[in-house]
Amino acid sequence: MNASSVLSLVREDLRAFAGYSSARSSALVGDVWLNANESAWANPADPQGSARRYPEPQPEALRARLAALYGCTPEQLLIGRGSDEAIDLLVRALCEPGRDAVLVTPPVFGMYAVCARLQNAPLLEVPLVDSDTGLNADIDAIIATALSGKAKLVFLCTPSNPAGSSIALSDIERVATALRGRAVVVVDEAYGEYAEQPSAVTLLDRYDNLAVLRTLSKAHALAAARIGSLIAAPELIQLLRRCQAPYPVPAPCSALALAALEPAALTTTAARVAEVKAERARLQQALQNAPGVRRVYASQGNYLLVRFNDAQRAFDALLATGVVVRDQRAAPQLGDALRITVGSPAENDRVLQVLTAGRAAA
Ligand code: PMP
Repeated sequence: MNASSVLSLVREDLRAFAGYSSARSSALVGDVWLNANESAWANPADPQGSARRYPEPQPEALRARLAALYGCTPEQLLIGRGSDEAIDLLVRALCEPGRDAVLVTPPVFGMYAVCARLQNAPLLEVPLVDSDTGLNADIDAIIATALSGKAKLVFLCTPSNPAGSSIALSDIERVATALRGRAVVVVDEAYGEYAEQPSAVTLLDRYDNLAVLRTLSKAHALAAARIGSLIAAPELIQLLRRCQAPYPVPAPCSALALAALEPAALTTTAARVAEVKAERARLQQALQNAPGVRRVYASQGNYLLVRFNDAQRAFDALLATGVVVRDQRAAPQLGDALRITVGSPAENDRVLQVLTAGRAAA
């Protein structure tokens, strides 16, 4: 596939879109900066004046660090306000309203459908299939529906939120191959750090219609900093950058993210991920044997999807002790399910105290 073909998937009216030219995007050199209508003085609350100037549109030091972390080049990576922003950007740039469809695999993270609706993009739903091994993506149905329904974007969530299942790299390759020249396949790896499977970033050199989402919100514990990454072909990244807000990454957030990617912080993050995995196994084991629990799905994320005889009762019993979990019952396939985030050992004990004591049993 040549370099221009992924751009042929972008909305026709945007292919030559110039975007906004921001004060920080030029190659100008100077020591008196009077081109952005910034204040000449620092705010008293910011005595160092570190927030006085507009930030770099794509902070290069952070971009390089994130690229090294995820195994791509800086040119393949776009930093956004969480991966949420990347999802929105992709839908807006690729889907001609009223025509180009977005394919999702419910039950799944709701933002894909929200962004599709905002863009008036038709939504194609290929439900996960429940089996002994879990709630899994139906690869043949995804390919067939994407082709017949004219999908421009296919969202594959792996590990899947809330199901916890992952999609094999060979299956991701099958989808990308089948949809070459027709759709961009977005692999959402928001929970990738907790999974056994390697990242789909390794496939990017072979499929320019593939994009990968990563975030610092989960394993790196920086949800409030809103630092997400979209990794894709450089020409798509450049185009999406032109569609993005002028200064999407606040300077205090990029500084925090850079600090979080120092070796010592990464070592701590890796230890926490290992602890979450151990706690996930402990919780799963204990919940499987709890009264009123019908099924605990194996999970590659930092959460467990649990079916109950009476999910409302379990939800209320937890809430009565101050433990808030995610009610999944709005999803048609999950009328009896709750999603429970794996917390600290003490937090998980609180969950188990309620659920193993039979307070959720119907
Ligand atoms: N993808 C998935 C699967 C998620 O569950 C979430 C958040 N819950 C996101 C993306 C968005 O994460 P963020 O915008 O914080 O990067």
